[in-house]
Amino acid sequence: MPKVIEWIGAREEDIVWRYPNEEIAWGDNLIVHEYEAAVFFRDGKAYDVFRAGRHVLTTANLPLLTKVLSKIAGFDKVPFRCTIIFISLKQFQGRFGAQSQTKELAPIKFFGSFWFRVEEPNLFVNEVVGGQGAFTTDKLQGFLRGYFNERLIDTLSQYSLSEVYGKLDETSLMAKNALFDAFSRIGLELIDVKFEGIDTTPEWRDRLFYVKTGVAATEVLRMETVQKSAESLSKSPGAAVGAGAVILPQVLQPAPAPAPLVPMVLCPKCNFQNPQTAKFCSNCGAPLQVAAGGVNCPKCGTANPAGAKFCLNCGSPLQSTVKCPKCGSEIQAGARFCPNCGEKLA
Ligand SMILES: [Zn+2]
Ligand SMILES: [Zn+2]
Ligand SMILES: [Zn+2]
Repeated sequence: MPKVIEWIGAREEDIVWRYPNEEIAWGDNLIVHEYEAAVFFRDGKAYDVFRAGRHVLTTANLPLLTKVLSKIAGFDKVPFRCTIIFISLKQFQGRFGAQSQTKELAPIKFFGSFWFRVEEPNLFVNEVVGGQGAFTTDKLQGFLRGYFNERLIDTLSQYSLSEVYGKLDETSLMAKNALFDAFSRIGLELIDVKFEGIDTTPEWRDRLFYVKTGVAATEVLRMETVQKSAESLSKSPGAAVGAGAVILPQVLQPAPAPAPLVPMVLCPKCNFQNPQTAKFCSNCGAPLQVAAGGVNCPKCGTANPAGAKFCLNCGSPLQSTVKCPKCGSEIQAGARFCPNCGEKLA
């Protein structure tokens, strides 16, 4: 009784599946569904590829494998050992994210998504599935994330900070161009790349402002004000990006800065209202203490209430890092995705 070889129960996210029985008989029925390919894989090498349809396995439709097997007399009368790897030809989303440096050695962190599909199943099986031992979708996604990150890090190191930062569309396009060939070398078509965030350190962000605008020193003060208002924007809970995520160029457009909201703190002794930044009461000189559980800003020293995410005075993130629940990486507070593993954080 010939057996039926078929990928049953494939889920949307499955890219690859290895048929568990490796003893294949001539006359077995191979069923390949729409958007699938079946690759015959033996001793680390991909042989014949089957596309959608119902196939009765014979020496005629397995010419490449037959050539190898035919070294043994009577091979076509007995079952043979072979791994059948099913590949989904649908479009998939992968995630990337890493830390890197630009041409001028500015540190950058980035993350986003890429979309791909298998174009050449036999090449893909040789280079990745078999070649890397990535027989499950999880392992495959892990391999592709690393493969993508490594090449993107190389690419970004050839560009300056102002070239990659703040121009996410162009950066995506540049990354796609640079990675397209690398993907086709492993049998994949890279369909699209989308950056969801690029960040650098505050120091480099400041330098970038000066470099990009090339304004006179008298303008720097105004720009700092604009930057502050950009930071205070990111404090509002409705802001799409958290602290340390992307500050897009449009926030640098001169805009009337809102009237500064100076947070006040009551003196515990005389109840005089003091600015939040004051360390001592300007009325009675009593020390103004941080509320229980409060936290001092690491940048400007302002006392902030417990649980505050951003400094009331300067907007710096206060809970500077959080741990990724998936991979354990230290991540800047407010990030939406782990830059290491791509896990969605909030
Ligand atoms: Zn006082
Ligand atoms: Zn501060
Ligand atoms: Zn993570």
